[in-house]
Amino acid sequence: MVILLLALFTVLGTDKLTHMGTGNTEKKRKISDEDFRNEFFSDGMWERKEELSAQCRQYLMQVKREAVYFPVPESTLDTGLGTSYVDSWMGERTYAGRRGHEGTDIMADKNERGLYPVVSITDGVISNLGWLDKGGYRIGITTGDGTYYYYAHLDSYANIREGSPVKAGELLGYMGDSGYGPEGTTGQFDVHLHLGIYFYRDGKEISVNPYHLLKFLENNKLKYAYS
Ligand SMILES: [Zn+2]
Repeated sequence: MVILLLALFTVLGTDKLTHMGTGNTEKKRKISDEDFRNEFFSDGMWERKEELSAQCRQYLMQVKREAVYFPVPESTLDTGLGTSYVDSWMGERTYAGRRGHEGTDIMADKNERGLYPVVSITDGVISNLGWLDKGGYRIGITTGDGTYYYYAHLDSYANIREGSPVKAGELLGYMGDSGYGPEGTTGQFDVHLHLGIYFYRDGKEISVNPYHLLKFLENNKLKYAYS
């Protein structure tokens, strides 16, 4: 009984006391929105999932359900055609005004536009297709739960249309270096796929860092014959 009362006191104790406590009290500290966006889908976030707000936890769980494939398949013909990427979340970008980088750039080891296929990470509907000065030839896919996956700087499109459904793993187009100018501009940077992930709540857009999700999806790469 004494032990129980002591335990109760620890839980209900003052702020000062609870911070001195262990385990249980730590769990109650909320992950900030900024950390949620920055550390999205990281191992650390999964370990601390209980500290997320209900809304953020829902976002995390829906991406876990819907994200299936890494967006760039491996080549079965040339193992030299790899890709690489670093965590460049909110790194400085200066085209069309100074801003933070809202995504991850998957760089092509071989800087050749139109070579690497790009596939859909998820099932969804093609909600945007066409040129953006910043994103070049881009594709936006909205999933059933409303997550928006943004694929930018493509060289060309596969046989897809705005409003059409797509399946995870379906070919969307080919990696390129389009963008940073009027329609058709290429070569302003190396060939890469820019991936962005967005949620929408009350008319507001919430972007999250795709880096840790991509790391996770590396275990699920499709194999395509290209060289
Ligand atoms: Zn980018």
